Amino acid sequence: MAKIIDGKKISAEIRQEIAQDVRRMKEAGIVPGLAVIIVGEDPASQIYVRNKGRACEEVGIHSEIIRLPEQTVQQALLSQIAELNARDDIHGILVQLPLPRHIDEGAVIAAISPDKDVDAFSEVNVGKIMIGNFRFLPCTPAGVMELLKRSGIETEGKRAVVVGRSNIVGKPQAMLLLHANATVTICHSRTRNLAELCREADILVVAIGRANFIKAEMVKPGAAVIDVGMNRLPDGKLAGDVDFAGVSEVAGYLTPVPGGVGPMTITMLLKNTVTAAEAAREKRERS
Ligand code: NDP
Repeated sequence: MAKIIDGKKISAEIRQEIAQDVRRMKEAGIVPGLAVIIVGEDPASQIYVRNKGRACEEVGIHSEIIRLPEQTVQQALLSQIAELNARDDIHGILVQLPLPRHIDEGAVIAAISPDKDVDAFSEVNVGKIMIGNFRFLPCTPAGVMELLKRSGIETEGKRAVVVGRSNIVGKPQAMLLLHANATVTICHSRTRNLAELCREADILVVAIGRANFIKAEMVKPGAAVIDVGMNRLPDGKLAGDVDFAGVSEVAGYLTPVPGGVGPMTITMLLKNTVTAAEAAREKRERS
């Protein structure tokens, strides 16, 4: 029977550490600040943004939520970002995605100063991840690495398989596992023999967006299975990409949905904001 990795508990531990860091920074006169911009009324985005604001408050990070109407023109959004880029009291800037269709997401991400890009979505930060010289890591894959580390799961020399190749999860996840000395395979919708490849994995990370897709027979006995998927079922319940009941009989470790990777994503955003504030202080002291 798999050991269930409690993402809520690990997340709470890390948030306590972050709160301590923030307290220390405040004593030195620095208050880490995060600005979150939301354009439009998408209900899921509204909830995410509210949760981010609340999480900041809990650890002592100053947060500002900037709500712009659906019909905001791109130039106005870019000006707003330029203003935040110039502010010394804002260390992290996050634009909640998706944006309304008339706005070019790439141009908006590119407008955020790489030093304040706490989602690590910009080309500069993505490039840094590739090279291994990074300050921020994208929140979800970074959260997965923390779950592995804090559960005592070794990555060095292990076979890791990542299912999914999106820019926000699959690709950076594979890169982080590679930096942690795993031997990594990336699978996607055109992969042949997916089940066979998955069965080779000591660490299997799944981020595809298909409820209960990974079954017990696709998992190597004793493997660590990390389920990034979040799928809303017709009855309103949340399901992961992994068939939890079946896979828990075979895997060595397994993350639940909800309560696995999910809570880690915001936690890593808080961590990135603190890192950005530290870096801004160091930069000021050098100049
Ligand atoms: P995308 O839709 O951007 O990417 C999905 C990936 O899965 C693609 O690379 C796709 O392949 C691959 N895929 C789809 N179907 C199959 C299949 N049958 N076999 C193999 N590969 C397949 O999704 P995201 O990466 O953004 O998100 C993935 C999941 O993770 C979603 O459920 C999302 O809600 C969740 N998520 C959870 C977060 C959290 O905080 N817990 C944060 C971000 C995402 P191809 O490229 O060939 O199309």
